[in-house]
Amino acid sequence: NQRVVIIGAGIVGANVADELVSRGWKNITVVEQGPIDLPGGSTSHAPGLVFQTNSSKTMTLLAKYTMSKLLSMDCFNQVGGLEIATTPARLEELKRKHGWAASWGIEARLISAEECASMYPPLNKDMVLGGLHIPSDGLALAKDAVRLLVQKTREAGVRYMDSTPVTGIEQTQGRVTGVQTPNGTVEADIVISCAGFWGVEIGAMVGLPIPLLPLAHQYVKTSSVQALKGRNKGPNGATLPMLRHQDQDLYYREHGDQYGIGYYGHQPLPVVAASLGITPKEVTDHQMPSRMEFTPQDFDPAWKESQTLLPALQQTEIADGFNGIFSFTPDGGPVIGEHPKLDGFWVAEAIWVTHSAGMARALAEILTVGRSTIDLSGCELSRFEEVQVAPDYVRETSMQNFVEVYDIIHPLAPKESPRNIRVSPFHSQQQELGAYFLEDGAWERPHWFEANAPLLDSLPARWRPAERDAWAAQHYSPICAAEAWKTRTAVAMYDLSPQKRLTISGPGAVHLLQRLGTNDVDTPVGTITYTLLLDTHGTIRSDVWASRIDETTFQVRVNGNLDFAYLSQEARKQCRQSPNKWVLVSDITGGTCCIGLWGPNALDVISKVSDDDFSDAALPYSHVKLARIQGVPVAVMRLSQVGEQGWEICTTADCGRRLWDVLWQAGQPSGVIAAGRNAMHALWMEVGFKGYGTDMTREHDPYQAGLEFTIASNKADFVGKAALEKRKNPTRRLRCLTVDDRTSVVMGKEPVFVEGKAVGYVANTAFGYTIGKPIAYAWLPVEMGEGRGVEVEYFERRIKATVTSEPAIEAGSDGGVK
Ligand code: FAD
Repeated sequence: NQRVVIIGAGIVGANVADELVSRGWKNITVVEQGPIDLPGGSTSHAPGLVFQTNSSKTMTLLAKYTMSKLLSMDCFNQVGGLEIATTPARLEELKRKHGWAASWGIEARLISAEECASMYPPLNKDMVLGGLHIPSDGLALAKDAVRLLVQKTREAGVRYMDSTPVTGIEQTQGRVTGVQTPNGTVEADIVISCAGFWGVEIGAMVGLPIPLLPLAHQYVKTSSVQALKGRNKGPNGATLPMLRHQDQDLYYREHGDQYGIGYYGHQPLPVVAASLGITPKEVTDHQMPSRMEFTPQDFDPAWKESQTLLPALQQTEIADGFNGIFSFTPDGGPVIGEHPKLDGFWVAEAIWVTHSAGMARALAEILTVGRSTIDLSGCELSRFEEVQVAPDYVRETSMQNFVEVYDIIHPLAPKESPRNIRVSPFHSQQQELGAYFLEDGAWERPHWFEANAPLLDSLPARWRPAERDAWAAQHYSPICAAEAWKTRTAVAMYDLSPQKRLTISGPGAVHLLQRLGTNDVDTPVGTITYTLLLDTHGTIRSDVWASRIDETTFQVRVNGNLDFAYLSQEARKQCRQSPNKWVLVSDITGGTCCIGLWGPNALDVISKVSDDDFSDAALPYSHVKLARIQGVPVAVMRLSQVGEQGWEICTTADCGRRLWDVLWQAGQPSGVIAAGRNAMHALWMEVGFKGYGTDMTREHDPYQAGLEFTIASNKADFVGKAALEKRKNPTRRLRCLTVDDRTSVVMGKEPVFVEGKAVGYVANTAFGYTIGKPIAYAWLPVEMGEGRGVEVEYFERRIKATVTSEPAIEAGSDGGVK
C-alpha cells in the first residue's frame, strides 16, 4: 500500500490518479497549486483536438486509448479529423500518413478535393488538392474530463489538496519520502510530477534537469460565423470535422457558431514558468497562469490565410485571442520516467491532451506491474544524453520543434542546429574525406564519404543501386553502394565511436549481467556474449554485447542511454541488497572511441601494424583481447557488424587519431576506404542482425523477434525467464521481405497488405547492395512464412514483396559472406 503524491491536477495528473486507483492503489494524494475546478494549467484552456495518427506507433496507440477512454466518459465529441493538402508535397505527406494509420490500426481515407469540400462546406475548394479523413478523431472535452475524473477518484478515496503549491521534495538515502507544502509535509513513497510546463521547477527541487521548454502558442476565437449559425448546440458544440491546414501551421474547430483557430506559424515565444508567480485562489477562463496576453501582430498572417481558406471568416473578426503556454521538448516527445538517482521520484510531463490517458495508463502499469503494454522507450526521460538536457540545448531544439511541429520531416533529416556537439576523435580525418554527416544523439555520424565518389566508375554492374524516387533519395548517395562493395571485396573502416559503451565492473559484475540477461555471460575471460535484457513479462528491453575483459570486468556495447540508466539503477539496487556483490556501471563512450575494420583484406591490414596474432585461430569469432597497434593500447573484439572478417577496435579517445592514421596508412595497399552508416546498415541487415528500437521494441519477445537462440538453457533464473514459458508460440513474427521488382525502396513504418487487408508493418529497411534488391524486416502474422507474397504500401502505391528465408545472405563461420 504505497503512499503516492501526484503533483498537479491537469489532464495528466487526474488520469494518473484514476489509472492507479482503478488498479487497486489506495493511498493517493493529489497536490495542486490552483483551485481544483479550474487549476489554471494548460488543460484549463486546451481546445482539445485529438488527431491520433502519428509516425510513432507508441504515440498513436497512446492517443487511441485516450480517445476511447474519453468516449466512454462522454467527454469526446467524435467529429472526425480532416487534414488537407494545399501543396503537392503535403499531398504526398498525407499518403505517408495514411500508411501510418493502416500500420497502427486506425481507419483513415485519402479523399479528393471535391470530397473535402462536400465534407467541409466552408472550405475554399480551389485551394485544396486533397485530404486525409480519420473518422475516429475528435474533440476532447478536457476540462470536463478532469472534473469527472476528480469526482470519480475522490469517491474512490483519492485526496485532493488544492491551492497548495509543492515547494520542495523530501528524501532520505536516495529515496523520496514526501513533498513539502506551506501547510506541512505530505509523506510519500512515490512522488509523480504531473506539473506540465512547471516540470522544470519541480525537477530543480531534486536536481533533475527536465528537458522541456514552456512556449506560448496562439489560439483565437472569431466572432459568430453566419454559416455556422444554428448548426451546433452550446458554446463549444461542433459537428464539422476538426480541420488541419498544416501547410500554413493552422488548425480549426467550431465553438458553437464561432471558429477556434490555433497557429504554430509565429516566432517561438519561450516562457519561464517560475516567472508566472503564484497561481491565484480564483482562476477564471481569462485569468490563469498559462494564458498570456495575445500578440495580434504574430497572428496577422494566420488571420489572412484563414479568411482565404474559409471565406465565411471574411465577415467576422477576432473576438478573443490568447497566447497559451504548453511544453515542447528537444525531440517533440513526452518526458516520462523515474529519476535515475532518486528512487520513487517520477515525472510525466510534456504530454498533450491527445496522449494523456494513454500515458497515464502506461505509467500506472509500470508502477503496478513493472511494465507498460505500449513501448515507451521513445518517451522516457532517460533517452536523453547528458548534453541533451543542458538548458541551451533544450531551449534551441525545443524552439525548433515548435517551428517544425507541422512540417514535413524526412526520417533521416538532421537538426540544422545545434550541431557538432559530439564528434569522434576521427572527425577531422572524416571531414578531409568529405564525410556527409547526419546527427543522432547529438553525435556527428558520417553516412558516406564524397572521397569515395571515384569508386563509382569502377563499380561492377551488379552492385549498381536502383534509382531512387525524390523522397528516398534524400540524405542518400549512390556512393553508399560503392562503400558496401569495397567492404565486401576489400576492407573498410567504420567509425563506431558513437555506439554506447559501458564498463560493468566489480565482484558483482557477472551476477548483474546473469540476473538481467537471457544468455550465459559467466564464460571464460576473453569471450563475448550476445544477450537480451528482458522485462519481467518476457519482452525485450534491449540487446547487448558483453565482452569479458577479466574476471570482474565487462565492456558492454548497449543501445543508448536507456540501457545505461537501467543497468545503473539495477547495479545500485544490487549494491544495496548484496554489498559483497557490489558492481559499478560506467559510461565510457565519450572517453573512448572505436573503429570497425572489416572486409576480406582486414587481416592483411592489422597484421602490418601489430605483433599480436589476430587470425581466427588466435582470436576466434566472439572473442576479445587486449593488444597494441603500433603502441596504441586497444581492446580488439572479434565481432562483425557487417558479416565480414574483422574487428571492433577500441581505444581511449586521446589515442583515437593515431589509431585511425595507423590503420589508414597500413590499409592503403589493401584498398582500405572509410565507409559510412548507410553502407553499414545495409550490410548489417543483409546478414540478419536486428536492431533494437527499429526491428524490435519492448512490445516484442525473443520468440517473436527470432532471437530465442540467446536464451541460455543452463541458467537457473533471469529477469523475464518465468514469463517466457508462456510465450513460446507467438502469433506474429519479424519476417525478412525482399522487394520483387528489385528497385522500389521503402523506408520503414509502411503497412503490409495481404489480400487487400493490412496485416502488419515494416520495421526496418535497407537496399541490400550485395543481393541487389531492397530488404525490409516486417512484423507479420506467424502463418505468413517463407515464400508468401505481400504488398507494401508506399505513398499509396502497392509494392510487391516476398517473405524470404533469413538472413538474406549467410555470413560464413569466419564472419565473411559465403
Ligand atoms: P497542466 O494542465 O498544465 O497541469 C499541470 C498542473 O500542475 C497545473 O494545474 C499546475 O497548477 C500544477 N502545478 C504546477 N506546479 C505545481 C506545484 N509546484 N505544486 C502544485 N501544483 C503544481 N493538446 C492536445 O492534445 N490537443 C490540442 O488541441 C491542444 N491545443 C492546445 C492549445 C493551446 C493554446 C495550448 C496552450 C495547449 C494545447 N494543447 C493541446 C496541449 C495541452 O493543453 C497540454 O499538453 C496538456 O493540457 C498538459 O496537461 P498537464 O496535465 O500535463 O498539464
